[in-house]
Amino acid sequence: MDCLTVNVVTPNGLVYDHRATIVVAKTTDGEIGILPKHAPIIVPLAIDEVRVKRTDSDTHVDWIAVNGGIMEVRDDVISIIADSAERERDIDVSRAERAKQRAERMIQEAKENANTDELRRATVALHRAINRINVSKHT
Ligand code: ATP
Repeated sequence: MDCLTVNVVTPNGLVYDHRATIVVAKTTDGEIGILPKHAPIIVPLAIDEVRVKRTDSDTHVDWIAVNGGIMEVRDDVISIIADSAERERDIDVSRAERAKQRAERMIQEAKENANTDELRRATVALHRAINRINVSKHT
């Protein structure tokens, strides 16, 4: 059976390495599904979830919260390189909830001070936190 090898690498090292039948990710242009024998591509990823249907289970899907980065597909190997990425089971939900509240406060303050740089940073932090919270619900 044809399959994919999926690696997710961050500055902390390899956070994921499994065989898959299909991978669904969100690029900055929208969702993309990758099957074996896909043409080579390199695409930027959104801060979103990556879904991996593994070869070793008919039912199980792994969910990974990816903090942007890039995805390369070549010769049935999918390499995702991101600043951070966590599997659903590794997400500390209360930390993500705290990060979400902090980001919401920062957004409010940045709007009051018309600070566009701070607003951009806080909005990205909010997306990271919401993504982690969403992915953690798939356990
Ligand atoms: P925080 O404000 O809670 O640090 P952050 O979005 O600023 O969140 P990052 O800079 O994206 O955090 O990540 C720093 C490190 O902490 C990375 O290794 C990332 O995987 C990890 N990390 C961040 N938040 C969580 C979480 N809620 N659960 C597990 N690991 C997390």
